[in-house]
Amino acid sequence: MTERILIQGGRIIDPAAGRDAVGDLLIEEGTVREIGPRLSVKGSCQKIDAAGKLVVPGLIDLHSHLREPGFEYKETVATATAAAAAGGFTTICAMPNTNPINDNQSVTEFILERAKAEGKVHVLPVGAITKGSKGEELAEIGELVAAGCVALSDDGRPVMNSELMRRAMEYAKIFDVPVIDHCEDLNLSAGGVMFEGEVSTALGLKGIPAASETVMVARDIALAELTGAKVHLAHISCGGSVHLIREAKRRGIAVTAETCPHYFTLTDDRVRGFDANAKMKPPLATRRDLEAVRAGLADGTIDAIATDHAPHAAQEKECEIDHAPFGIIGLETAFSLSLMLVEEGLLTLPALIQKMTENPARIIGKKIGRLGIGDRADVTLIDPAAEWVVDAGDFKSKSKNSPFIGWKMNGRIAGIVLSGVWKPADAEARR
Ligand SMILES: [Zn+2]
Ligand SMILES: [Zn+2]
Repeated sequence: MTERILIQGGRIIDPAAGRDAVGDLLIEEGTVREIGPRLSVKGSCQKIDAAGKLVVPGLIDLHSHLREPGFEYKETVATATAAAAAGGFTTICAMPNTNPINDNQSVTEFILERAKAEGKVHVLPVGAITKGSKGEELAEIGELVAAGCVALSDDGRPVMNSELMRRAMEYAKIFDVPVIDHCEDLNLSAGGVMFEGEVSTALGLKGIPAASETVMVARDIALAELTGAKVHLAHISCGGSVHLIREAKRRGIAVTAETCPHYFTLTDDRVRGFDANAKMKPPLATRRDLEAVRAGLADGTIDAIATDHAPHAAQEKECEIDHAPFGIIGLETAFSLSLMLVEEGLLTLPALIQKMTENPARIIGKKIGRLGIGDRADVTLIDPAAEWVVDAGDFKSKSKNSPFIGWKMNGRIAGIVLSGVWKPADAEARR
């Protein structure tokens, strides 16, 4: 690729380099070539006016469900990556709970081939910890890593057997990949629909206690300490977990954590309308939990913001809340919801960008999420002041299961540069 792109006059924020200044960014042959206050370029060059816009490393999502292979009626690699691009992401990690489960080389290769053929952003597969994510026998971890998996997880079906989890961590350490755990004690959560508390009692719905998450967070911290493996805790939702992770980090244990926008913007009150789009795992918790998650983001206990983008078809979510599947889509609303933390003064803009670029990259050990000279040019342009209203008809995702439809938000994605190619956002898509 010989194309040159000059992004002019934007506020360039690159947390990995400690950069936050207005300037120009020159991209050549797919890589970042030069950054400076005012660059002059000789010869032909595509110019992008970024005045008033943020120019940041391409956002990274550690936690997406692409649904292909096996559930193409919910989402495909093509539609999930289109949603990711619209949401400002240039790299997404694909969770393994497809059908078949990504527990072997051929499924990993299939996902990578689909991403290469039809993907609108980079896709990094996450391999299963156990065969079929059944929690019985370890998957061929070396084979998965060799095929391109960047992490291991039995997301959605957590490994209940602690001895097996210990061995998974020992293998993960050998292959230098993190274990991403969906912290849920399946015995405590069995039959639960929403968070166990006042609201579940009022609605007469079976609750999932906060302890379902916290006992597994505590277990995984203990196993991380025992094995020395890199352990990443997915979608942290409650105050008890934040407290445990904060203490673990203070003791120097190698745990990292993510939360999702719905855990710092919504509470279990949202379930009062019996809306299945307020049903996810872990469930929306109380106001106190939401405040604890926010505090965890502010003090660095929670390293990353991920989406847990979990598409489900309309007919699946349109039934009674007891029977609806867990999960919501998130790729196209994540940045704007997270920007609210900056607007409320909880995080600085560079700190927010860091949780969506540098930190996720560090967790999976990839040299992305930064704008260093010579780095692959994955860049996101954002108009921070542009207002938009979430409209289900605008979603690029095949599924529309979002609790944020109708919300007014700031921060429109103007486009992404993917491996040095400028892909402006569809101007029609968002009004
Ligand atoms: Zn999960
Ligand atoms: Zn998930």
